[in-house]
Amino acid sequence: MNECLGIKNLKVNYGSIEALKGIDISVKEGQIVALLGANGAGKTTTLRKISGILEAKSGSVQFFGEDITKLPPHKIASKGIIQSPEGRQVFRDLTVEENLMIGAYTIKNKKELKNNFDRVYSYFPVLRERKNQIASTLSGGEQQMLAIGRALMGNPKLLLLDEPSLGLAPLIVKNIFHIIEEIRKDGTTVLIVEQNALQTLKIADYAYVLEVGKVGMEGSAKELRNNSSLIEVYLGGK
Ligand code: ATP
Repeated sequence: MNECLGIKNLKVNYGSIEALKGIDISVKEGQIVALLGANGAGKTTTLRKISGILEAKSGSVQFFGEDITKLPPHKIASKGIIQSPEGRQVFRDLTVEENLMIGAYTIKNKKELKNNFDRVYSYFPVLRERKNQIASTLSGGEQQMLAIGRALMGNPKLLLLDEPSLGLAPLIVKNIFHIIEEIRKDGTTVLIVEQNALQTLKIADYAYVLEVGKVGMEGSAKELRNNSSLIEVYLGGK
């Protein structure tokens, strides 16, 4: 399996705060990889660095073997790394369709654009039903679907998901996780940050547990799922 994303000895600071103290992460093409850990462990910082929003103090980020450590966010997005942000940050005053169009800003070909709309609407039929509705009037779950849909409109090779289950009811979380599996089946590699460890380990292939800026533990999702002390100690038994 090709390596899609390779992070080596990555350090990121906020001023004097060492948010990442040298982490190594590998995501193989076609995998769902989970980044787990408590509040403040550095999960969001890792995603923001991969997207190019933050600078590294040292270390490197490679995408299919190319060093992207120093590239700006728009260059990284155009290479196919697209983040669906935390907190369902959709454009609240725009319609569903307008939000999706924004995600497709790099797509110039009409047929490709239509295919992307069809793909997103097939994952999330409710978005098609509500395509003319203003985003702020959607439920929390629908806004999360729209955030993921918007990221998919840009044809990601690697989709970065930041806490897609945050604040959502269990049934909706189950639905969204099922769709994430479908997205992977259709060929998109996924790196997912989550606090909801047990459910994430059910859909992931491999997982890293961050602990105050370091990788405290890693392994196949199956191994970690069967490690009950890990679930208790690191992940709060969720
Ligand atoms: P959460 O689930 O709460 O988002 P996280 O694992 O994503 O947690 P990060 O948000 O990456 O953690 O934070 C890692 C560390 O960096 C924490 O100690 C946090 O307080 C600090 N930090 C995050 N953002 C900033 C910032 N903008 N300025 C200063 N420190 C920050």
